[in-house]
Amino acid sequence: MFNTRTKIKALLQSEPTGQEVIVMGWVRTFRNNQFIALNDGSTNHNIQIVVELGLLDEATLKRITTGASLKVIGEVVPSLGKGQKVEVKAKTVEILGDSDAEKYPLQPKKHSLEFLREIAHLRFRTNTFGAVFRIRHSLAFAVHQFFNEKGFVYLHTPIITSSDAEGAGEMFRVTTLPLENPPLNEDGSINYKEDFFGKSTNLTVSGQLEGELGAMAFSEIYTFGPTFRAENSNTTRHLAEFWMIEPEMAFYDIEDNMNLAEAFIKYLIRYAMEHNMEDLEFLDQRLAEEEKQKPQAERTEMGLLEKLRFVVDNDFERITYTEAINILLDSPAYKKKKFKYEVSWGIDMQSEHERYLVEKHFKKPVIVTGYPAAIKAFYMRMNEDGKTVAAMDILAPGIGEIVGGSQREERLDRLEQRMRDMHIPAEEMSWYLDTRRFGTVPHAGFGLGFERMVQFVTGMGNIRDVIAFARTPQNCEF
Ligand code: ATP
Ligand code: MN
Repeated sequence: MFNTRTKIKALLQSEPTGQEVIVMGWVRTFRNNQFIALNDGSTNHNIQIVVELGLLDEATLKRITTGASLKVIGEVVPSLGKGQKVEVKAKTVEILGDSDAEKYPLQPKKHSLEFLREIAHLRFRTNTFGAVFRIRHSLAFAVHQFFNEKGFVYLHTPIITSSDAEGAGEMFRVTTLPLENPPLNEDGSINYKEDFFGKSTNLTVSGQLEGELGAMAFSEIYTFGPTFRAENSNTTRHLAEFWMIEPEMAFYDIEDNMNLAEAFIKYLIRYAMEHNMEDLEFLDQRLAEEEKQKPQAERTEMGLLEKLRFVVDNDFERITYTEAINILLDSPAYKKKKFKYEVSWGIDMQSEHERYLVEKHFKKPVIVTGYPAAIKAFYMRMNEDGKTVAAMDILAPGIGEIVGGSQREERLDRLEQRMRDMHIPAEEMSWYLDTRRFGTVPHAGFGLGFERMVQFVTGMGNIRDVIAFARTPQNCEF
């Protein structure tokens, strides 16, 4: 058996009684031909391996370079150096894999995030990305735990879909037809009857519509899977491939929906604070140093941990869209013409408006409800006023929109009317309308962008740095 190693995280917490251990990992640094800092990804902290003079020959010492992988057998002893309680006094050091120091791109110094994005296949080995991806893992686990505790059923909705009526964003087409010479109809359009599925298909932009079908039987379901949007948005908050969590609940109105979303976000943050404090502290420090480089006026007021504690301990602000517009119209920013985009009732708020509301005005997460029907999807429930719908967006400091949701229109006649108004072909959606024909109930749901949530918890400014291998316009490496 090869793997009888002790993970470095456990090792660092053990009592140094001279016990023998096997440690494996990658070299971060090697000082004075004597001290190896070894890391195996279980924690950001390295174990110090002490190689006594004379233990290894010259040739072996030369091979202990940054990035090389080692198997060390040694004794766990109290550390004389500061910063760690224990270290390993090596008995044998075996080099599992060499790493040419001349060619290895990661040096023991600070690299820019931009540079690390170009070597995303190696960046997991840095402290920053180690922390980010351990936290991402924890949050994903917490998503399942939260819903499982509440009795929600995890529904795997399809990735390939034929419904293009969701209207959530531009879609990627899925086809096996030859691009150069596709079969055509008489009118010159492409004949999708000859395509793999006998119709035109796409990658899903959202699992919601299928999620609603599940909720009409299980009462409460959630999805957690990849979604795809071919939108040409080159921002720090948009990916072409991202992960979304979409709960859908029967017997929920818009207020129940808001309560669930707020509880969910707080649960995820609390989970990370209970399980990933070391990594959060590291990122908190990192962010504080980054902030120091900025001019005073651009610095954020709260540190990362302070912000997370604040969000967990305080209620989210809840306002209507109409109130939001009035706040914007009354704002010094508006009066001084600081907004690039216009403000008036009916606009789809731009990120500058959302950020003003959360970062300048309320300084905390805000839930906005009652959006104009004209700017929202067909399935959102019409309010009594006949012009707004029971939509809710949650806006978060530093991120903007993190959740989009609504109470769904459960009344068949209203839903059909909205679909006619928005030119959505009812025949193709008959499976969806069946839920309103057979035992319809008030229901609601929302979508949380997982990467935006990871950004919020880690404080990372660019969404490309919280997903392993980002897909964005003109970029699909690895
Ligand atoms: P935005 O206005 O920011 O583009 P949206 O209104 O298109 O968002 P929804 O369709 O409501 O977003 O999707 C639900 C959630 O999915 C959003 O609140 C956000 O957290 C996330 N999301 C949407 N688009 C993207 C994207 N391109 N990359 C990453 N996350 C996204
Ligand atoms: Mn969008």
